[in-house]
Amino acid sequence: MTDPVDLAVVGGGPAGVATLLAAETLAPDWRVAGWRGTVPGFLPAYGGNDPVHRLNVAVERMGLDAAAPIDFYDWLQAVHPERRVRPGDFVPRAWFGEYLAHRAASVRAGVRPEAVVALDRCAGGWRLQGAGGDKLVARRVALCLGMPAGVPMPGASSPWVGDPWAWWRAHQGAPLPLAPSDRVLVVGSGLTAVDMVLGLRARGFAGPIEVVSTGGRWSTAHAPAPPLDPEARDRLDDALDAATGARGTMRVLRRFAAEHPWRAVVDALRADTNARWAALGLEEQRRVMRHAFGLWNRHRHRMAPDVLATLEADRALRLRPGRIAVEDGGRIVLRHAGRTEALDAALVLDCRGPGFRAALAGDSLLARLVRDGVLQAHPLGTGVQTPADPTLAVLGAARFGECFETTAVPELRQQAVAVVARWVEGA
Ligand SMILES: Cc1cc2nc3c(=O)[nH]c(=O)nc-3n(C[C@H](O)[C@H](O)[C@H](O)COP(=O)(O)OP(=O)(O)OC[C@H]3O[C@@H](n4cnc5c(N)ncnc54)[C@H](O)[C@@H]3O)c2cc1C
Repeated sequence: MTDPVDLAVVGGGPAGVATLLAAETLAPDWRVAGWRGTVPGFLPAYGGNDPVHRLNVAVERMGLDAAAPIDFYDWLQAVHPERRVRPGDFVPRAWFGEYLAHRAASVRAGVRPEAVVALDRCAGGWRLQGAGGDKLVARRVALCLGMPAGVPMPGASSPWVGDPWAWWRAHQGAPLPLAPSDRVLVVGSGLTAVDMVLGLRARGFAGPIEVVSTGGRWSTAHAPAPPLDPEARDRLDDALDAATGARGTMRVLRRFAAEHPWRAVVDALRADTNARWAALGLEEQRRVMRHAFGLWNRHRHRMAPDVLATLEADRALRLRPGRIAVEDGGRIVLRHAGRTEALDAALVLDCRGPGFRAALAGDSLLARLVRDGVLQAHPLGTGVQTPADPTLAVLGAARFGECFETTAVPELRQQAVAVVARWVEGA
C-alpha cells in the first residue's frame, strides 16, 4: 500500500463528482482518489439512452458547482450550441449524464470503475478495499452512495422486474420482449414510472399500460410561478414558525397555497426545509412520513409540463389508486377500498422508488457500515446520522432522516462544498 491519499470519494454520481470538483478548487494540493462502482453510465436517473427521459429540474439549476449553479447550462452552450438550449428548458437526462462524465473525466484524481466493498478505521485514516482486492488508505472519506435500492416485493417472480433501470439497460438496442397486445403493469407513479412509460412508448410499444400507486396520481408539472413577494414570504415564515407539529405546518401550507400560487409556496420552503424538518422532532417526522410524504413528493418533485401533457393524452395508459401485492402462488393483485382485483400482465415494472424505509437492510456498503458500527442509523431508519468521526462524511440520499432535502443536484453541490470546506478549514 502507498502513502495515504488526502481524500477518497466513494460514488461517481452527481454528489461524488461535485465533491471531487470541490476538492480540486478548495484543496488543489490534495491527493484524491475516486471510486464509482461498476454500473456503466450514471444511474439511476441519468443512464437512460433515450432523449424522452428528461430532467425534472430546469437546465440552469443543474450545475455541479455551488459557486456557479449555471455550469451545466454554460457547458451545453460551449460544447453543444447546436442543441439550442434556453434557460427554463427541461433537457434530456442523457445530456446531464454527458456533462457528468465530462466533468468526472476532467478531475485530476480520476475515478476508478470499481466498487468499494469495505471501509475500516486504521492508523493514518481509513482503509478502503475495492471489489478487486485493491486497498488504499485515505485521511478522509466522502461516501456519496446515492439512493438506497428498492425493497423487493415479497413473493414476486417473473414477469415482475424489481430493478426497472437494469431491465432498461438489458434491452438497449434490442427489441422489447413484448407483443403488441401485451399488458404492462407499472407499480408506482413517481419519476421512474414516468420514465418507464415514456420509454416504452418511444420504443414503439403501443399496448395497454396500467400504472398503480397508492395515491393514484402523477406528480404535478412545473409552471411559471413568480416567487412569493417579500411580504408574503415573511408572513409564511412567521406562520410556519408559530405552527405546531406536522399537522400545524400542513395547515399553514394549505392556507398559503390557497391564497398564492402553490408552486411559489412550495418553492419558498426549499432553502429552509431541512431546518424546519429538524425542528419537527422524531414523532412528528414519523407522522409526515406516514401521512404527507407522498403528497409532498408530488408537489415538490414536479415534471416538465409537456411530459405530463403526453401522459394525460395517452389513451392506452391508465393510472389507478391502490396497493399491489403478490399472493401465495404468484397472483398479482390490486387492493383498493376493500376490494381485491387480480391483474394480468406480461411485464411488471417495480417503480416504487428508493427503499428509504429499508435503506439499512440488505448488503449495501452503507448497511454493512451500520452493522459494523462505523456509522449510526438515524432513528427513523431511513438513513444514517452525521458520522461522529470528523474525517468521514456522508452525502446525499443516505442522509435522509437527518435531512429532508438531500437527493437533488442543488442540495448535493452545497453538501459537497460544505464538507470539503470544513475539512480544509480543519486541516
Ligand atoms: C427517475 C429519477 C429522476 C431524477 N431526476 C432528477 C432531476 O431531474 N434533477 C435532480 O436534481 N435530481 C433528480 N433525481 C434525483 C437523483 O437521485 C439525483 O439527481 C442524483 O442522481 C443523486 O446523486 P448521487 O450522487 O447522490 O447518487 P447516484 O446518482 O445514485 O450515484 C451514486 C453513485 O455511487 C456509486 N456507488 C454506490 N455504492 C458504491 C460502492 N460501494 N463503491 C463505489 N461506488 C458506489 C454508484 O455506482 C453511483 O456512481 C432523479 C432521480 C430519479 C430516480
